[in-house]
Amino acid sequence: MNQYDAIIIGTGAGGGTLAYKLAQSGKSILILERGDYIPREKENWDTEEVFIKGRYKAKENWTDKKGKVFHPGIHYCVGGNTKVYGAALLRMREADFKELKHAGGVSPAWPIEYNDLAKYYLEAEQLYAVHGERGSDPSEPKEQAPYPYSPLPHEDRIQKLNEDLIELGLKPFALPIGLNQDQKNTEAPYVLDRFDGFPDPTELKADAHVNAIKKIIDLPNVTLVTNALVERLETDSTGGRISKVIVKNGDQEVTYQGDVVAVCCGAINSAALLLRSKNEHHPNGLANSTDLVGRNYMAHNNSAMLAISNNPNPSKFGKTLGLNDFYFGDEKFEFPMGHIQMLGKSDAVMYKEDAPSFAPGLTLEYLAKHSLDFWMTSEDLPDPDNRVTLDDSGNIQLHYTENNLEGHKQLKKKLKWILEHVGCKTHLLPNNLYLGKKIPIAGTAHQCGTIRFGYDPHTSVLNPMCQAHEVENLYVVDGSFFPSSSAVNPGLTIMAMACRVGEYLNNNILV
Ligand SMILES: Cc1cc2nc3c(=O)[nH]c(=O)nc-3n(C[C@H](O)[C@H](O)[C@H](O)COP(=O)(O)OP(=O)(O)OC[C@H]3O[C@@H](n4cnc5c(N)ncnc54)[C@H](O)[C@@H]3O)c2cc1C
Repeated sequence: MNQYDAIIIGTGAGGGTLAYKLAQSGKSILILERGDYIPREKENWDTEEVFIKGRYKAKENWTDKKGKVFHPGIHYCVGGNTKVYGAALLRMREADFKELKHAGGVSPAWPIEYNDLAKYYLEAEQLYAVHGERGSDPSEPKEQAPYPYSPLPHEDRIQKLNEDLIELGLKPFALPIGLNQDQKNTEAPYVLDRFDGFPDPTELKADAHVNAIKKIIDLPNVTLVTNALVERLETDSTGGRISKVIVKNGDQEVTYQGDVVAVCCGAINSAALLLRSKNEHHPNGLANSTDLVGRNYMAHNNSAMLAISNNPNPSKFGKTLGLNDFYFGDEKFEFPMGHIQMLGKSDAVMYKEDAPSFAPGLTLEYLAKHSLDFWMTSEDLPDPDNRVTLDDSGNIQLHYTENNLEGHKQLKKKLKWILEHVGCKTHLLPNNLYLGKKIPIAGTAHQCGTIRFGYDPHTSVLNPMCQAHEVENLYVVDGSFFPSSSAVNPGLTIMAMACRVGEYLNNNILV
């Protein structure tokens, strides 16, 4: 009874999208999710509940390389981390797939090229209802087909910023956002407000629950079990195939079997699951004779920057503008710097913990009303010592030392310079104040790289179709496979890869 054609573990960007694809095969698909549905409740939009009390965050602590305990920014629920993501869905640049020299070292090439993923990027953009404008982003790869929906309009303050940036010779672009609505087709207008970092009870946000799982959940060949923590995977007597998927449900263990097993737990938990599944054939952990599982963890060099001006910014949803002019560097700094995008919109409660040090004399309400909120992402490089391990009790230990910081520093400088120069001088930022905050280790939002893919079984765990070199029916389809992290948000690339692997499985394995 517990035998399925395919078992998918996790329902986030990777697992949710893969489930959507495999459901089309008509084969029996079991989806195991350790979390539950996030309830639709008024607390979904309550900053105190979401940001300060961590209402929807996983109730577990991890340790860093020194054994210091921290509470990771991770979410176990149907839809995974996409339930709270900002739905900024960007393609990696063509050059991101190749070896790229950075100020702090070399970003390795992927085993596939951009063109191998291009059609799946388009498929993922359609599935996740992306609104954008082709060609407005100077570093974006060429694509003939338009975005499924036209770009979200800027609110007045962001439109002014857009014009000011253009006047400065820059090329701000319409940030591609996944949204289940076309403004033209609605009678009552929608207003986006709490979005980036919050679950969306209106289900306007295109996430893996709403846009993938919900669409297949009533199909007769699809079964979803929630509150199903997969504890370990067992192999057959040869060690070459997974024979059992063991789920812990309270004190009880339930066993499932699948011809295909796709691990989609997110880069940290997928590595932890393979490490936890060691046996006599795989003494270092499943598919880990190379000792690579868990290594090369990346999460981006991310910073939030708030620019505070005398002029208010009444925008409710500022996340409509991006800037990639410095993605690969400029004439003064020849190495990649990274990507800038607007954040949703911050409010007073979000500053509570940091405010006393950064804003003497200003009320939190003043800061919130006058802030322009930016998010900067630069590439961090794979380092084998940045890794996921398990402590003696099987708990996650995350070893991470920052690297490749120079490009990020340059990007921050650029943004400060811009803010001082874009027509903001007189009416935006007199007496300006910049609040820059580098995201610490608990910021695992952009986790990737722990189970890298490649052709060589000595230097990678998965082959270019995300199938384990050492375990025939094991696939890992989430942020784990990234050999390098690029400097755009990872979501769309994970979704596109899930479409690619799904198509391969449907055509070749689940036939
Ligand atoms: C606040 C925030 C904002 C973000 N904004 C953006 C953005 O704007 N754009 C973007 O592209 N990306 C964004 N991201 C990142 C994006 O959400 C992730 O890159 C993406 O969700 C990762 O997909 P995944 O499939 O690797 O893992 P996840 O989405 O994390 O899914 C993993 C799933 O596996 C389940 N699971 C884990 N372990 C087990 C187990 N042992 N047994 C069963 N189930 C298990 C989890 O509960 C979860 O459902 C954001 C993330 C956060 C936290």
